[in-house]
Amino acid sequence: MTLTTARPASSTQPVPPNPARGLVCRNCGATFGLIASHACAECFGPLEVDYDPELMRAVTREQIEAGPHNIWRYSALLPVGQDPADRVTLDPGMTPLVKADRLGAELGFTADLWVKDDSANPTHSFKDRVVSLAATAAKGFGYQKIACASTGNLANSVAAHAARNGLPSFVFVPSDLEPGKIVQSAVYGQALIAVDGSYDDVNRLTSELAETDEFEDAAFVNQNVRPYYAEGSKTMGYEIAEQLGWRIPAQVVIPMASGSLLTKVDKAWRELVAAGIVEDTGWKVFGAQSAGCDPIATAFDNGWDVVKPVKPTGIAKSLNIGNPADGPYALDAIRRTGGSVGRVGDAEIVTGIRDLARTTGVFAETAGGVTVAVLRQLVERGLLDPAAETVVLNTGEGLKTLDPLMPVVGPTHRVEPSLKSLRAAGLIG
Ligand SMILES: *Cc1c(COP(=O)(O)O)cnc(C)c1O
Ligand SMILES: [Zn+2]
Repeated sequence: MTLTTARPASSTQPVPPNPARGLVCRNCGATFGLIASHACAECFGPLEVDYDPELMRAVTREQIEAGPHNIWRYSALLPVGQDPADRVTLDPGMTPLVKADRLGAELGFTADLWVKDDSANPTHSFKDRVVSLAATAAKGFGYQKIACASTGNLANSVAAHAARNGLPSFVFVPSDLEPGKIVQSAVYGQALIAVDGSYDDVNRLTSELAETDEFEDAAFVNQNVRPYYAEGSKTMGYEIAEQLGWRIPAQVVIPMASGSLLTKVDKAWRELVAAGIVEDTGWKVFGAQSAGCDPIATAFDNGWDVVKPVKPTGIAKSLNIGNPADGPYALDAIRRTGGSVGRVGDAEIVTGIRDLARTTGVFAETAGGVTVAVLRQLVERGLLDPAAETVVLNTGEGLKTLDPLMPVVGPTHRVEPSLKSLRAAGLIG
């Protein structure tokens, strides 16, 4: 199948041209049309969207600023969805960039520290950005249903996009997922298949499923439409630059599961520089993993170019991908920019969640706890400069992963409904 070509504008806003001209293999450089495939027919390497550099360079700040207050303001830099009528979306994006002065002070920052808070997206994680692109591509290819393997947040977002747009979805998750993520995937009334196995087992299963007759008409978010899906993560990078007044921060800390988000934030900034939209002031990209699933951190520490798969454990379940598809590319971006990688254990993750909540009012899921704890560690190890402007990404909402917090936070006092009882508790004199 190939992507249907753009149709006439459905609104008065001018529809920019689609800058995507095909797919390119990141391994051997072979090029393809805008097809529904994620693997190179020559070498099985991963396919990525290939853009017309002239069209990408022609994009201006003014053009972006005139767009809607969501990811589609960047549609001139994306491979699908230029015409609003083509979009299958919950209109995510333009989430808050929160100045974290109190957290910065605790960590010894003299420069500004910011939290990009993607818990504010419609299904409360950054996955709405990627799913909007995947679902729009799915519609363009004429698929009748949408499916995915997920560590939780992707499942939430695919099911919600399907529900809003009347497209059946089939989401596959490890059966030991957090209850919050199970409920949030199930509530949209779509098929939710809990698999007794790890995410990597689930992913293998959906790869096999994609080859069956019954699922020939399905878009698999992280398989046949993955090149389009992955580009949605660029919008996080564009937004950070725009929200800083068209500036790129000196340092960024990004949680890694497959490693895709990290590579796309870096890519977004390179595109903005190439378009002359921002100045190239140089930036360092830092990756964050949990000690329970640290294959990219281990490869970084050992100077390896390849990533050795691990069996994930630990509370940061949304990051528990033991065989990360974009690991080598994430390593590239981290090394090329002079960044580093940190890993933290479960106790530090919980502390990271509490530190962020206590100092910024942002309640992050475990992935956000990983990122904040890694930020602290990188400063302590002298790898991240507290005198340089820094952005950390909170990619998901704390209400999704209450379980590890329940044993450690709760009411500070328990009283009878009387002033006498408040007095006994020491709250009044
Ligand atoms: C999926 C996910 C990530 C990381 O995504 P990759 O692009 O696979 O590295 C980070 N945080 C949360 C909360 C996620 O759900
Ligand atoms: Zn190839």
